[in-house]
Amino acid sequence: MAEWQNVIRKRDFPMIAQGSCEGNGMVYLDNAATTQCSRPVLWALEDYWQHQHANVHRGVYCLSSKATAAMEETRQLTAEFLGASPEEIVFTFGATDGLNLLANAFAAGELKPGDLVLSTEMEHNSNLLPWLEACRRSGARLELVAVTEAGNLDMEDLRRKLERKPRLLALTAVSNVLGTVNPLEEIIPLAHEAGTAVVVDAAQAMRCRETDVRALDCDFLVFSAHKLMGPTGVGVLCGKAEWLDRLGPGRFGGGMLRELNWPEAAYEAGGRKFEAGTPNLSGIAGLGAALEYLQAVGRKRIAAYEKELLHHAEKRLSAIGGVRILGAPEQRAGVLSFVMEPLQAYDVAMLLDKKGFALRSGRHCADALHARLGLSGSVRLSPAFYNTKGEIDALADALKEIGSVSRKAGIPVGEKTRG
Ligand code: PLP
Repeated sequence: MAEWQNVIRKRDFPMIAQGSCEGNGMVYLDNAATTQCSRPVLWALEDYWQHQHANVHRGVYCLSSKATAAMEETRQLTAEFLGASPEEIVFTFGATDGLNLLANAFAAGELKPGDLVLSTEMEHNSNLLPWLEACRRSGARLELVAVTEAGNLDMEDLRRKLERKPRLLALTAVSNVLGTVNPLEEIIPLAHEAGTAVVVDAAQAMRCRETDVRALDCDFLVFSAHKLMGPTGVGVLCGKAEWLDRLGPGRFGGGMLRELNWPEAAYEAGGRKFEAGTPNLSGIAGLGAALEYLQAVGRKRIAAYEKELLHHAEKRLSAIGGVRILGAPEQRAGVLSFVMEPLQAYDVAMLLDKKGFALRSGRHCADALHARLGLSGSVRLSPAFYNTKGEIDALADALKEIGSVSRKAGIPVGEKTRG
């Protein structure tokens, strides 16, 4: 184990070092679902509730000004983290919330009957259902770009569909099932040539990929803090300034009104136009601490180590008779999913739980992808930088044992692939 990693495990993630789930030695490998908060995040949350809690942009008193300044500081920090400007940052309640906000705004003011919207077969439901509903409401049509057998986005299909000049392409940066890293550097210019705006779902990408929205030139990008060692219930929608100016607010309420000249209402400019109601203020404080923490550990170091860990997992798991890893994408990050047929994914995850491993089973909210793969579910391994190769080795041993015990019980796990 690298020295830095040993330090952060013990110092910043005691539950990970001791074994989660009341210290019973559980190895936590479900980081694609949510990550554990680092200690600095927990301190920031406590500090917020003890010293800063008041509503923002509303009071002239000292505490409200302090809370407002802290939130705006986090906006600045988030903008720097993404390579955007603070006016382009909207605080949301998570990636799903950001995508719904966008889809509502597009349905209300941008999409017209007959318009084409594209998403892909590998999306999380949070980047499908909001667009499906937006299309239903506006009379536009949603089509999905195909995924190849290997689990890559089918670039030929994308090119063909772009010829029809879709209004929007909403796609993930990293698949939450296959770990496919989509070549955004290639896709976004192609989309823009067709006059198509691009929404990037970066929920799985922010921790393991450095993301600069200016370099990418995406029109919108969303993520959640809880997949970055931050708290739940808070996220970010980053949008190009010209788009945020052009779109309607998507939802309405206190905090986003500039002037009411009844019945005419004028709204705030920039990101604040989209922040109706009281934001998740403690969550935003936690998000700021999470971003600072990732910067301090080093995003390049995190990305390199997580890549090494995933590569190790791929090597170990693919050598186990009966384990079939889903897809072989050109580039994989963050997650690896597998099946152990004829065992059900649910049963494999339950057996792993009994052996002290926390992995997710099911469709991982990627129903369209599982339908494409002809599977009712899979088991997902998603290590983070606080996990170790030793934990992956222990998981591989546990899977081997599950396979051999099943075979002894007459369940032919891997029988076809053995020998
Ligand atoms: N998009 C992707 C690719 C995800 O993996 C997830 C969560 O797993 C989401 C969106 C939704 O994130 P949240 O539940 O934090 O809104």
